[in-house]
Amino acid sequence: MTKIGIAGCGGRMGRALIAEVLATPGARLAAGAERPGDPAIGHDLGELVGGPAQGIVATADPEALFAASDVVIDFTAPGATTANARIAERTGKAMVIGTTGLDAAQSAIIEEAAEEAPILRAANFSVGVTLLLAMVERAARALGPDYDIDILEMHHRHKVDAPSGTALALGRAAAAGRGVALEDVWQKTRDGQTGARPRGEIGFATLRGGDVVGDHTAIFATDGERVELGHRASSRQVFAKGAVRAALWVAGKPARLYSMKDVLGLV
Ligand code: NAD
Repeated sequence: MTKIGIAGCGGRMGRALIAEVLATPGARLAAGAERPGDPAIGHDLGELVGGPAQGIVATADPEALFAASDVVIDFTAPGATTANARIAERTGKAMVIGTTGLDAAQSAIIEEAAEEAPILRAANFSVGVTLLLAMVERAARALGPDYDIDILEMHHRHKVDAPSGTALALGRAAAAGRGVALEDVWQKTRDGQTGARPRGEIGFATLRGGDVVGDHTAIFATDGERVELGHRASSRQVFAKGAVRAALWVAGKPARLYSMKDVLGLV
């Protein structure tokens, strides 16, 4: 049995993860942590998801979360995720990271921690998006620079970062297909007198509203035709399922930074 701890266990993904761990053979729910002062602290993890009590209450102590777990799944916020990565670095405990919106310095902390602990990070844990990333890279390579690439995404009204981590990952896949660095060609917002679209630019467009779980479309447009590759998630349980699968896979692996491609055997 792999002991799994959930960071951010009171959040939207945290609750989906509790339910998924409880439903997964070979996985045992070991602990859950929330930020100090969160209303979930002190509540039983089973009752947080409307099920029977599990005899484990949400803690505000991340050290206790790691001590109780073989692997910690973290879908929280960039500051919490980097603090947790430091604990993984110190203890060698495995981690699965789904948090998005990390800047370059915060990503560097994750990479450093992965020298001492097995860490699996993905902007999107769905099998469909993992496949889409590979398809977008291939399409960008095959279609070439005559096709303008824009990534369109829509998420629920509560999302706090933009463009989404998945949109940026799709942009990165397209840039890799063209043999360029995304940061050299991206246009994350357009407003006012922008001038004509520069050749080679990879653009982003962000929609927010309602309860949309996550829609992404990569658009390749040229004179006379347009190719669109897309994905729609209708339940966040699909991310929880992928993250629990990733947790069972990464626990006990050598220290390194892994991705969903490793889990699905796409590398
Ligand atoms: P949410 O706001 O519902 O949940 C985040 C939870 O983390 C909250 O309950 C918050 O209190 C908790 N938290 C914050 N700081 C903490 C700390 N120091 N210690 C413990 N808990 C802490 O948000 P959400 O919709 O569940 O999304 C969480 C993150 O996961 C976001 O970055 C989102 O973009 C990302 N996400 C990733 C995927 C994926 O497949 N990779 C899918 C969905 C969401």
